[in-house]
Amino acid sequence: MNISQNSRKFSIAVHGGAGTVIQGQADEAPYHAALAQALESGAALLRRGASALDAVQAACQSLEDCPLFNAGRGSVYTRDARHEMDAGLMDGSNLRAGAVASVSQVRNPIALARHVLDDGQCVLLVGEGAQRFADERGLARMDAGYFDSAERLAQLRRVQAQSGQTALLDHDASGLAAHPAPLNENGKMGTVGAVARDVHGNLAAAASTGGLTNKRPGRVGDTPVVGAGFYADSTTCAVAATGTGEHFLRAAIAHDIHARMRYLGQSLELAADAAVRGTLTHIGGQGGVVAVDSQGRVHCPFNSAGMYRGYIVDDAPAVTLIFA
Ligand code: ASP
Repeated sequence: MNISQNSRKFSIAVHGGAGTVIQGQADEAPYHAALAQALESGAALLRRGASALDAVQAACQSLEDCPLFNAGRGSVYTRDARHEMDAGLMDGSNLRAGAVASVSQVRNPIALARHVLDDGQCVLLVGEGAQRFADERGLARMDAGYFDSAERLAQLRRVQAQSGQTALLDHDASGLAAHPAPLNENGKMGTVGAVARDVHGNLAAAASTGGLTNKRPGRVGDTPVVGAGFYADSTTCAVAATGTGEHFLRAAIAHDIHARMRYLGQSLELAADAAVRGTLTHIGGQGGVVAVDSQGRVHCPFNSAGMYRGYIVDDAPAVTLIFA
Protein backbone atom coordinates (compact mmCIF):
# COMPACT_ATOMS: atom_id res chain seq x y z
CA MET A 1 0.00 0.00 0.00
CA ASN A 2 1.47 3.36 -0.93
CA ILE A 3 -0.81 6.06 0.27
CA SER A 4 1.38 9.13 0.00
CA GLN A 5 3.74 8.78 -2.93
CA ASN A 6 4.54 12.48 -3.13
CA SER A 7 5.86 12.69 0.39
CA ARG A 8 9.26 11.24 1.22
CA LYS A 9 8.99 12.21 4.85
CA PHE A 10 9.32 9.77 7.71
CA SER A 11 8.29 9.96 11.36
CA ILE A 12 9.00 7.83 14.38
CA ALA A 13 7.73 8.12 17.95
CA VAL A 14 8.55 6.00 20.98
CA HIS A 15 7.37 5.74 24.55
CA GLY A 16 9.01 4.30 27.65
CA GLY A 17 5.84 3.92 29.69
CA ALA A 18 3.31 6.03 31.52
CA GLY A 19 5.00 5.51 34.87
CA THR A 20 7.53 8.27 35.46
CA VAL A 21 9.88 9.54 38.09
CA ILE A 22 8.66 12.48 40.19
CA GLN A 23 9.47 15.76 38.47
CA GLY A 24 12.58 17.32 39.96
CA GLN A 25 13.36 14.36 42.25
CA ALA A 26 15.45 12.11 40.05
CA ASP A 27 18.05 12.31 37.34
CA GLU A 28 15.99 12.51 34.17
CA ALA A 29 18.98 12.66 31.80
CA PRO A 30 19.41 8.87 31.37
CA TYR A 31 15.77 8.54 30.28
CA HIS A 32 16.15 11.28 27.67
CA ALA A 33 19.34 9.65 26.42
CA ALA A 34 17.75 6.19 26.17
CA LEU A 35 14.69 7.54 24.34
CA ALA A 36 16.92 9.47 21.91
CA GLN A 37 19.01 6.35 21.26
CA ALA A 38 15.90 4.28 20.53
CA LEU A 39 14.54 6.95 18.21
CA GLU A 40 17.83 7.14 16.37
CA SER A 41 18.03 3.35 15.94
CA GLY A 42 14.68 3.49 14.13
CA ALA A 43 15.31 6.77 12.29
CA ALA A 44 18.64 5.51 10.90
CA LEU A 45 16.73 2.72 9.16
CA LEU A 46 13.94 5.01 7.94
CA ARG A 47 16.47 7.46 6.41
CA ARG A 48 17.81 4.58 4.33
CA GLY A 49 14.32 3.75 3.08
CA ALA A 50 13.70 0.78 5.38
CA SER A 51 10.18 -0.21 6.35
CA ALA A 52 8.27 1.25 9.27
CA LEU A 53 8.04 -2.33 10.59
CA ASP A 54 11.82 -2.71 10.76
CA ALA A 55 12.11 0.72 12.39
CA VAL A 56 9.61 0.09 15.19
CA GLN A 57 11.19 -3.28 15.92
CA ALA A 58 14.66 -1.71 16.15
CA ALA A 59 13.42 1.10 18.40
CA CYS A 60 11.64 -1.36 20.70
CA GLN A 61 14.64 -3.64 20.88
CA SER A 62 16.82 -0.73 21.91
CA LEU A 63 14.40 0.04 24.76
CA GLU A 64 14.11 -3.65 25.73
CA ASP A 65 17.88 -3.83 26.10
CA CYS A 66 17.94 -0.73 28.32
CA PRO A 67 17.47 -1.70 31.99
CA LEU A 68 15.70 1.61 32.72
CA PHE A 69 12.47 0.40 31.13
CA ASN A 70 9.90 -2.27 32.01
CA ALA A 71 10.41 -4.51 28.99
CA GLY A 72 13.01 -7.10 28.12
CA ARG A 73 15.95 -6.64 30.46
CA GLY A 74 14.22 -4.25 32.90
CA SER A 75 10.99 -6.21 33.23
CA VAL A 76 9.09 -6.04 36.52
CA TYR A 77 8.32 -9.07 38.69
CA THR A 78 5.16 -11.15 38.90
CA ARG A 79 3.57 -11.99 42.26
CA ASP A 80 5.82 -15.04 42.55
CA ALA A 81 8.97 -13.06 41.69
CA ARG A 82 9.36 -14.25 38.12
CA HIS A 83 9.31 -12.40 34.80
CA GLU A 84 6.58 -12.86 32.20
CA MET A 85 6.95 -10.63 29.16
CA ASP A 86 4.51 -9.72 26.39
CA ALA A 87 5.12 -8.04 23.02
CA GLY A 88 3.43 -7.46 19.68
CA LEU A 89 3.83 -5.58 16.42
CA MET A 90 1.79 -4.83 13.31
CA ASP A 91 2.49 -3.89 9.71
CA GLY A 92 -0.02 -1.27 8.57
CA SER A 93 0.63 -1.96 4.89
CA ASN A 94 -1.05 -5.39 4.99
CA LEU A 95 -2.51 -5.69 8.52
CA ARG A 96 -0.19 -8.56 9.37
CA ALA A 97 0.59 -8.89 13.08
CA GLY A 98 2.66 -11.04 15.43
CA ALA A 99 2.65 -11.24 19.21
CA VAL A 100 3.91 -13.29 22.15
CA ALA A 101 2.76 -13.45 25.77
CA SER A 102 4.12 -14.83 29.03
CA VAL A 103 7.63 -15.51 27.77
CA SER A 104 10.35 -15.69 30.41
CA GLN A 105 13.64 -16.42 28.70
CA VAL A 106 13.61 -14.48 25.44
CA ARG A 107 16.00 -11.55 25.45
CA ASN A 108 13.96 -9.51 22.96
CA PRO A 109 10.29 -10.49 22.99
CA ILE A 110 9.63 -8.03 20.16
CA ALA A 111 12.07 -9.97 17.94
CA LEU A 112 10.15 -13.17 18.69
CA ALA A 113 6.88 -11.37 17.87
CA ARG A 114 8.44 -10.40 14.53
CA HIS A 115 9.20 -14.06 13.83
CA VAL A 116 5.55 -14.87 14.55
CA LEU A 117 4.47 -12.14 12.11
CA ASP A 118 6.89 -13.26 9.39
CA ASP A 119 5.92 -16.90 9.87
CA GLY A 120 2.31 -15.92 9.35
CA GLN A 121 0.60 -19.08 10.62
CA CYS A 122 -0.77 -17.47 13.75
CA VAL A 123 -0.88 -14.05 15.38
CA LEU A 124 -0.37 -14.74 19.11
CA LEU A 125 1.82 -17.41 20.71
CA VAL A 126 2.01 -17.82 24.49
CA GLY A 127 4.10 -19.45 27.20
CA GLU A 128 5.88 -22.71 26.54
CA GLY A 129 4.71 -22.84 22.90
CA ALA A 130 6.17 -19.40 22.28
CA GLN A 131 9.44 -20.50 23.91
CA ARG A 132 9.59 -23.58 21.69
CA PHE A 133 9.05 -21.41 18.64
CA ALA A 134 11.89 -19.15 19.86
CA ASP A 135 14.13 -22.22 20.13
CA GLU A 136 13.19 -23.28 16.59
CA ARG A 137 14.10 -19.82 15.33
CA GLY A 138 17.47 -19.99 17.08
CA LEU A 139 16.85 -17.24 19.64
CA ALA A 140 19.14 -17.74 22.61
CA ARG A 141 17.58 -18.60 25.99
CA MET A 142 18.67 -16.12 28.66
CA ASP A 143 19.23 -17.12 32.29
CA ALA A 144 16.66 -15.65 34.67
CA GLY A 145 19.53 -13.60 36.09
CA TYR A 146 19.63 -11.50 32.91
CA PHE A 147 16.22 -10.03 33.82
CA ASP A 148 16.83 -9.81 37.59
CA SER A 149 17.52 -6.59 39.40
CA ALA A 150 17.67 -5.67 43.06
CA GLU A 151 15.61 -2.48 42.48
CA ARG A 152 12.80 -4.33 40.75
CA LEU A 153 12.72 -7.00 43.46
CA ALA A 154 12.60 -4.32 46.16
CA GLN A 155 9.76 -2.68 44.22
CA LEU A 156 7.83 -5.98 44.25
CA ARG A 157 8.39 -6.47 47.97
CA ARG A 158 7.19 -2.92 48.71
CA VAL A 159 4.01 -3.43 46.70
CA GLN A 160 3.38 -6.75 48.43
CA ALA A 161 3.98 -5.29 51.88
CA GLN A 162 1.76 -2.29 51.24
CA SER A 163 -1.04 -3.54 49.07
CA GLY A 164 -1.15 -7.32 49.38
CA GLN A 165 -2.40 -8.84 46.16
CA THR A 166 -2.88 -5.71 44.07
CA ALA A 167 -0.94 -5.45 40.81
CA LEU A 168 0.24 -1.98 39.90
CA LEU A 169 1.72 0.01 37.09
CA ASP A 170 5.31 0.28 38.18
CA HIS A 171 5.00 3.95 39.04
CA ASP A 172 1.50 3.96 40.42
CA ALA A 173 1.31 4.71 44.12
CA SER A 174 -2.27 5.93 44.18
CA GLY A 175 -3.41 2.74 45.94
CA LEU A 176 -0.65 2.93 48.50
CA ALA A 177 -1.85 5.32 51.16
CA ALA A 178 1.18 4.75 53.34
CA HIS A 179 3.58 5.68 50.58
CA PRO A 180 2.15 8.33 48.28
CA ALA A 181 5.33 8.41 46.24
CA PRO A 182 6.39 6.50 43.15
CA LEU A 183 7.34 2.95 43.91
CA ASN A 184 10.77 3.46 42.51
CA GLU A 185 11.80 7.07 42.54
CA ASN A 186 15.25 6.51 41.11
CA GLY A 187 14.88 3.23 39.39
CA LYS A 188 13.48 1.52 36.37
CA MET A 189 10.06 2.17 34.95
CA GLY A 190 8.11 1.93 31.76
CA THR A 191 6.64 -0.41 29.21
CA VAL A 192 7.95 0.47 25.75
CA GLY A 193 6.40 1.10 22.36
CA ALA A 194 7.10 2.61 18.95
CA VAL A 195 5.17 3.81 15.91
CA ALA A 196 6.56 4.93 12.58
CA ARG A 197 5.73 6.14 9.09
CA ASP A 198 8.31 5.21 6.48
CA VAL A 199 9.25 7.18 3.35
CA HIS A 200 6.99 4.91 1.29
CA GLY A 201 3.98 6.06 3.31
CA ASN A 202 3.48 2.88 5.32
CA LEU A 203 2.85 2.72 9.05
CA ALA A 204 3.76 0.20 11.78
CA ALA A 205 3.38 -0.15 15.54
CA ALA A 206 5.20 -2.20 18.21
CA ALA A 207 4.83 -2.65 21.98
CA SER A 208 6.69 -4.66 24.62
CA THR A 209 6.30 -5.00 28.39
CA GLY A 210 7.07 -6.88 31.57
CA GLY A 211 3.49 -6.06 32.59
CA LEU A 212 2.45 -4.88 36.02
CA THR A 213 4.48 -5.26 39.22
CA ASN A 214 3.03 -8.06 41.39
CA LYS A 215 0.74 -9.29 38.59
CA ARG A 216 -0.91 -12.68 38.91
CA PRO A 217 1.14 -15.37 37.10
CA GLY A 218 -0.46 -15.93 33.70
CA ARG A 219 -2.02 -12.47 33.60
CA VAL A 220 -1.72 -10.89 30.16
CA GLY A 221 -2.53 -7.23 29.58
CA ASP A 222 -3.14 -5.18 26.46
CA THR A 223 0.41 -5.05 25.15
CA PRO A 224 0.40 -8.24 22.98
CA VAL A 225 -3.24 -7.83 21.90
CA VAL A 226 -3.95 -6.40 18.45
CA GLY A 227 -6.29 -3.41 18.73
CA ALA A 228 -5.74 -2.95 22.47
CA GLY A 229 -2.02 -2.32 23.02
CA PHE A 230 -1.09 -1.65 19.41
CA TYR A 231 -2.61 -1.24 15.96
CA ALA A 232 -1.46 -0.08 12.53
CA ASP A 233 -3.28 0.61 9.27
CA SER A 234 -1.38 2.68 6.71
CA THR A 235 -4.58 4.45 5.62
CA THR A 236 -5.22 5.85 9.11
CA CYS A 237 -2.71 5.56 11.94
CA ALA A 238 -0.28 3.49 13.98
CA VAL A 239 -0.75 3.40 17.76
CA ALA A 240 1.28 1.97 20.67
CA ALA A 241 -0.23 2.15 24.17
CA THR A 242 0.94 2.07 27.77
CA GLY A 243 -0.98 2.01 31.01
CA THR A 244 -3.41 -0.12 33.00
CA GLY A 245 -3.76 -2.95 30.51
CA GLU A 246 -7.20 -4.20 31.54
CA HIS A 247 -8.75 -0.83 30.62
CA PHE A 248 -6.98 -0.70 27.27
CA LEU A 249 -8.24 -4.22 26.59
CA ARG A 250 -11.84 -3.44 27.50
CA ALA A 251 -11.97 -0.32 25.38
CA ALA A 252 -9.81 -1.67 22.51
CA ILE A 253 -8.09 1.71 22.67
CA ALA A 254 -5.63 1.34 19.77
CA HIS A 255 -8.29 0.10 17.36
CA ASP A 256 -10.73 2.71 18.63
CA ILE A 257 -8.37 5.47 17.47
CA HIS A 258 -8.10 3.83 14.04
CA ALA A 259 -11.89 3.34 13.84
CA ARG A 260 -12.62 6.96 14.73
CA MET A 261 -10.37 8.09 11.91
CA ARG A 262 -11.71 5.52 9.43
CA TYR A 263 -15.43 5.73 10.12
CA LEU A 264 -15.87 9.22 11.57
CA GLY A 265 -13.19 10.91 9.49
CA GLN A 266 -11.60 12.32 12.64
CA SER A 267 -8.04 13.66 12.70
CA LEU A 268 -5.42 11.71 14.66
CA GLU A 269 -5.45 14.35 17.35
CA LEU A 270 -9.23 14.28 17.81
CA ALA A 271 -9.41 10.48 17.68
CA ALA A 272 -6.53 9.84 20.10
CA ASP A 273 -7.74 12.49 22.56
CA ALA A 274 -11.27 11.04 22.49
CA ALA A 275 -9.94 7.54 23.20
CA VAL A 276 -7.41 8.48 25.90
CA ARG A 277 -8.83 11.57 27.59
CA GLY A 278 -12.42 10.45 26.94
CA THR A 279 -13.11 6.71 26.97
CA LEU A 280 -10.02 5.52 28.88
CA THR A 281 -10.40 8.19 31.54
CA HIS A 282 -14.15 7.56 31.94
CA ILE A 283 -13.64 3.88 32.69
CA GLY A 284 -10.89 4.63 35.19
CA GLY A 285 -7.90 3.70 33.05
CA GLN A 286 -4.54 5.35 33.30
CA GLY A 287 -1.86 5.78 30.65
CA GLY A 288 -1.42 7.03 27.13
CA VAL A 289 -0.42 6.32 23.56
CA VAL A 290 2.10 7.37 20.95
CA ALA A 291 0.52 7.61 17.52
CA VAL A 292 1.36 8.67 13.98
CA ASP A 293 -1.01 9.25 11.06
CA SER A 294 -0.67 8.54 7.35
CA GLN A 295 0.84 11.99 6.77
CA GLY A 296 3.47 11.49 9.45
CA ARG A 297 1.86 13.70 12.08
CA VAL A 298 2.68 12.57 15.62
CA HIS A 299 0.37 12.84 18.64
CA CYS A 300 1.03 11.44 22.13
CA PRO A 301 -1.84 12.05 24.60
CA PHE A 302 -1.80 10.61 28.15
CA ASN A 303 -3.85 11.07 31.32
CA SER A 304 -1.09 10.06 33.77
CA ALA A 305 1.35 12.44 35.46
CA GLY A 306 3.88 11.80 32.74
CA MET A 307 4.86 9.50 29.92
CA TYR A 308 8.40 8.93 28.73
CA ARG A 309 8.17 9.74 25.03
CA GLY A 310 9.94 11.20 22.04
CA TYR A 311 9.76 11.63 18.32
CA ILE A 312 11.75 12.45 15.22
CA VAL A 313 9.99 13.90 12.19
CA ASP A 314 12.19 13.79 9.11
CA ASP A 315 15.25 16.07 9.31
CA ALA A 316 14.25 17.74 12.57
CA PRO A 317 16.25 16.89 15.71
CA ALA A 318 14.88 14.34 18.18
CA VAL A 319 12.46 15.64 20.80
CA THR A 320 12.24 13.73 24.11
CA LEU A 321 9.79 14.53 26.91
CA ILE A 322 8.70 13.10 30.27
CA PHE A 323 6.03 15.38 31.75
CA ALA A 324 3.04 17.22 30.32
N1 ASP B 1 0.01 -2.00 29.60
C1 ASP B 1 0.93 -2.81 30.34
C2 ASP B 1 0.19 -3.98 30.94
O1 ASP B 1 -0.92 -3.81 31.39
C3 ASP B 1 1.65 -2.07 31.43
C4 ASP B 1 2.22 -0.72 31.07
O2 ASP B 1 1.96 -0.21 29.99
O3 ASP B 1 2.98 -0.18 31.88
O4 ASP B 1 0.73 -5.06 30.98
